[in-house]
Amino acid sequence: MTAARPQAPSPAPQRTDDAYKTWLGHTYACARCRNGAAECPEARRLGRAWRAS
Ligand SMILES: [Zn+2]
Repeated sequence: MTAARPQAPSPAPQRTDDAYKTWLGHTYACARCRNGAAECPEARRLGRAWRAS
């Protein structure tokens, strides 16, 4: 039985591939992502690449 996962990327470090690290590193380094005030197109692109891998 598999539980349905939410659309948003989980903060838990379950994935250790490069795409995830790239995305995670961006969210830490990017002021817009850290703010969470605005949607960051770069984070969206990285997150998409991570989930597609
Ligand atoms: Zn960002």
